[in-house]
Amino acid sequence: DATIAGEFGRIMGWADKYRTMKVRTNADTPADAKKARELGAEGIGLCRTEHMFFEGNRIDAFREMICAETVEEREAALEKILPEQQGDFEKLYEALEGNPVTIRFLDPPLHEFVPTEEEDIKKLADAQGKTVEQIKAVIDSLHEFNPMMGHRGCRLAVTYPEIAKMQTKAVIRAAINVQKAHPEWKVQPEIMIPLVGDIKELKYVKKFVVETADAEIAAAGSDLKYEVGTMIEIPRAALTADEIAKEADFFCFGTNDLTQMTYGFSRDDAGKFLDAYYDAKIFENDPFAKLDQDGVGKLMKMAIDLGKPVNEKLHVGICGEHGGDPSSVEFCHSLGLDYVSCSPFRVPIARLAAAQAAIAQK
Ligand code: PEP
Ligand code: MG
Repeated sequence: DATIAGEFGRIMGWADKYRTMKVRTNADTPADAKKARELGAEGIGLCRTEHMFFEGNRIDAFREMICAETVEEREAALEKILPEQQGDFEKLYEALEGNPVTIRFLDPPLHEFVPTEEEDIKKLADAQGKTVEQIKAVIDSLHEFNPMMGHRGCRLAVTYPEIAKMQTKAVIRAAINVQKAHPEWKVQPEIMIPLVGDIKELKYVKKFVVETADAEIAAAGSDLKYEVGTMIEIPRAALTADEIAKEADFFCFGTNDLTQMTYGFSRDDAGKFLDAYYDAKIFENDPFAKLDQDGVGKLMKMAIDLGKPVNEKLHVGICGEHGGDPSSVEFCHSLGLDYVSCSPFRVPIARLAAAQAAIAQK
């Protein structure tokens, strides 16, 4: 409705005059990205790429890759995904019209990607000319008791560098194409490495990401600029942020995992016993919804205080669920974050909360 849009726009305009933090969105589909743009998002702060691997036949190619024995076989399987992955990113850059787009490399609990149904296991065995037993042996070897603490994030990029290389090619090729089609925009890809807990992990992965990206840019004769940064979502990353900042163009706080790992509460199961904590008045708020400023917040402050002095250009954001919660947004403002990123429908709330935080500080 035009009237609501008009009044809504006017109020948001007032808020935007005051706020100093940018507001980005968490989006991995063009529809979400467009909706968020309409609601005022100034970039994508987190594009999760996990769901993309389940579209069409991609999961079959991915499973082929997991069960392959050589680098060449793994690369050949991922080649089948690359053109579609490039298309995914092209659509997101188009929707963002030259605003920054942070693409987070694959961060699944790996067990969700392996087949469990007999029929799928047989299909995979047939496709690879292997026996069902051979495929089951690979699946068994990937079994973990604590997948959320296990083989995910940058650890996957260490064990299967071919995935990160494929995603780098897709990010860069898509950016070059969209930049060519829209010379009036400045396409700004930001590659985000998840679950880093040690500078050596970031260095190891960044090396082949940068080599791959630079080779793509040179082959296309392009002058595209891109950034490589990291999520800060493991307490150890916050504690060693001075080292990590030397290699990162940006930090983005993944406060969902950071809350999980700081409290030692499983983010997937916490609701079950936290209700008793509210009844017993041990907790007033769900720390997964409202940022725990005393603990998780201290780690965030520590990461900024350690990271900024060694890298003046370091920019810092948040993309955990807290990025759309008003009191958490206010806290992020007090820490001096450059942006908050939240789901599309929370973008207006974040714009208002960021403005209120700035006004309260005056
Ligand atoms: C996080 O951990 O806060 C985050 C944004 O990543 P994900 O929720 O995908 O783990
Ligand atoms: Mg996370």
